[in-house]
Amino acid sequence: MLQKVVISPRQLLTRAELEAYDPASEPWQKQFARRYTHHSELKDVLNRMEDVNETVYEKFAVSITPYMAQLMDPNDPDCPIRLQYLPSHHEEKKPGFETMLDELGEEGDTVPGTSVVHRYPRRVLFLVSNTCSTLCRFCTRKRMVSQPSGSVHKDEIERSIDYIASNKDIDDVLLSGGDPLTFDDERLDYILGAIRERAPHVRFLRIGSRMVVQLPTRVTPELCAILEKHRVQMVNIHINHPKEITPLLRERVKMIQKAGIMMGLQTVCLKGVNDDVAILRDLFMQAIEMGVRPYYVYSTDMVEGAHHFIVPHQRMLELYEGVRGWISGPAVPTFVVDGLGGLGKLPIIPTYVSEEPLPDGSGTTVKCRNYKGMTVEMPGLGQHFRVPSQSRA
Ligand SMILES: *Cc1c(COP(=O)(O)O)cnc(C)c1O
Ligand code: SF4
Repeated sequence: MLQKVVISPRQLLTRAELEAYDPASEPWQKQFARRYTHHSELKDVLNRMEDVNETVYEKFAVSITPYMAQLMDPNDPDCPIRLQYLPSHHEEKKPGFETMLDELGEEGDTVPGTSVVHRYPRRVLFLVSNTCSTLCRFCTRKRMVSQPSGSVHKDEIERSIDYIASNKDIDDVLLSGGDPLTFDDERLDYILGAIRERAPHVRFLRIGSRMVVQLPTRVTPELCAILEKHRVQMVNIHINHPKEITPLLRERVKMIQKAGIMMGLQTVCLKGVNDDVAILRDLFMQAIEMGVRPYYVYSTDMVEGAHHFIVPHQRMLELYEGVRGWISGPAVPTFVVDGLGGLGKLPIIPTYVSEEPLPDGSGTTVKCRNYKGMTVEMPGLGQHFRVPSQSRA
């Protein structure tokens, strides 16, 4: 009798296989199917793995592409990439622990029946996908990005596009999720095409994707042709540490840029990963070297299981001061904190210029401090100059 050969559908790579693995050697879908989805599956691949109990899986899945696993230091448990993706005991359920699943209040700003968050004037966040190729432990959208597979219902996508189409005020649509690039080309082509066709008033169409960084082979000439065809103007990628920048990533970023698309960088400030001036300077300079403009640095959101990553506000200010003035201006992003309950993004800006009353009460002076701590007073700026009207010739 013939024995039936059962091949594991996921075909996880062993340590030796991973070391020899060329992530560019197979189509992205194939690598996507090889994701590690339980920490125990990596025990053979990484040394000194922390064991965690199953309660961490109740709230958030584990998902790691072989490419990302390759970037992890097999011996260092504090490797900045391991910290971002491997579950830790900090996430285990503790009695009395406050849970906050939607601390940004996105659900309150979601248009009913759609996956459109309409918070700001004229622009919307369109959450098209509810999965990513690799799941970040600090994810702000854990409430929806919690499964290693799954997508937003087709009807919901249609209603979302209808909403954008019927609101002529909306001139900027940001596709995010989850990761829009987890869709295949056909579906992405359909969604982008439908927005362009049914909502011609949309002037700016952008995509936020970390998949470019987590599974760079997702970026193909075919994908770029679709983005170009539908005039996607900007792709924002998410990188938190210079170790995430590889020759393969650079190559695929160039592919997107060749389609005439500007690129931005988003970074989450994470304790133990990148809360360090030298690391941030290096990250931002490497980004502009590849033509990717640092856009936002986010304070870690107060989501469940991410508290150990939070960098205190004072430290955020210091980090900003450590980059502003010290590296190229275009490499300096805006630091922001997303206000609890839907306040939106609020800039974190140290005071360099302030207005203070003059000691004699006669008015005010403007005190200035530069990036090196040198100060100067500019009393003239504290006054309202009346420009003498020009005498007519
Ligand atoms: C971040 C965000 C946007 C886009 O904001 P920009 O500052 O224009 O990049 C839009 N809507 C929501 C709900 C957001 O969180
Ligand atoms: S890539 Fe973004 S949306 Fe996806 S898991 Fe990470 S933080 Fe969440």
